[in-house]
This record gives sequence, C-alpha cells and structure tokens, in this order.
Amino acid sequence: RAGFVSFVGRPNVGKSTLTNALVGEKVAITSSKPQTTRRAIRGVVHRPNGQVIIVDTPGVHRPRTLLGERLNDLVQSTLGDVDVIGFCVPANEPIGPGDRFINDTLDQYPRAKKVAIVTKIDRTAKDRVGEQLLAVSKLREWDSVIPTSGTKGLQLEVLLDEITKLL
Ligand code: GDP
Ligand code: MG
Repeated sequence: RAGFVSFVGRPNVGKSTLTNALVGEKVAITSSKPQTTRRAIRGVVHRPNGQVIIVDTPGVHRPRTLLGERLNDLVQSTLGDVDVIGFCVPANEPIGPGDRFINDTLDQYPRAKKVAIVTKIDRTAKDRVGEQLLAVSKLREWDSVIPTSGTKGLQLEVLLDEITKLL
C-alpha cells in the first residue's frame, strides 16, 4: 500500500510538528507564528506494509484577505489529491468556529478517508483528552479518531498504522 496523507487544521495546532515527528527529520517549518508553512512539503514514511507520503499544507482559515484566499486555493488543490485527510485539533483548546469551518470544508472531499487527530495531548490532563476525543467525534463520522503528541512522540505508530490501513 502507498498513498498520500495531508494534515489540516487551524494554524498552530501542530501539523508541521506532527509531520516532522512522523518523518523523523525536519522537513516542515514549525513556528509559533501562524501560517509559516507556505508550501506543500512532502515527507515519505516507510512502513512494513507500505508507504505514507505526507503533504503539509498551510492552515485552512476563514479568508479575510486575497493572500488568505490564495492559500485556501492551494490547500484545496492539495486536498483534492490525497487519500487520507488528518484533521488536527489540539487537546488543550476547545473546538471553535475555526475548527468547525475547516471540518465543514472536508465535505468537499468525499473520496478521501478522514481521520481526526487530537494533538498536543502532553499539554493537558487525561480526562480533558477524553473530552476532546468525544467532542471531535461529534463533528462527523471519522474513519478513525486518534490522540497524539508530536513533540513527545506519543501514539505516532498507532496513527501511522491507522493511516496505512486506510490507504
Ligand atoms: P502548525 O501551524 O499546525 O504547523 O503548528 P506547528 O507544528 O508549527 O506547532 C505550533 C506550536 O505548537 C509550536 O510551538 C510547537 O512546538 C507546538 N507543538 C506542536 N505539537 C505539539 C505537541 O504535541 N505538544 C506540545 N506541547 N507542543 C506542540
Ligand atoms: Mg505548519
């Protein structure tokens, strides 16, 4: 099996960090500033049962500027082409309008498998992680819902296994 996966989510939710952790080298630019990642950068993860090719996108956001619109176009053309979309929400912030906006845009990709990824689980208490898993589960029927930490390397094998299964 081989296929493409792309992580989407608001700026700063940990998409680039997750990409780096999965690929095992610094391929994507991470920053505490929103929208540092302007280009789709690919990393390939080799698995016993296949290959996962990761495309890191800029964060989708409600466009307020022309640049914002162009970035969203770039995200759209990327997502139209992937097998699995990983929707990232951080464990330590409530799901808000920005998250819901991005989740709604995923309806445009019925062919793609959709995995909800609760990121930064090292930032918060276990029961809060549980609450966030439940909250994200209510947004749509995900193919999988997985808690992770990119910086601590938690649950990355589980995530890769789930993605590979969906390819
Ligand atoms: P992106 O905009 O979604 O690509 O987010 P980044 O990967 O650039 O991460 C934004 C900020 O969150 C950076 O300061 C990261 O170090 C931090 N971060 C990302 N993932 C984690 C995580 O799993 N745990 C913690 N504690 N911080 C994280
Ligand atoms: Mg990024």
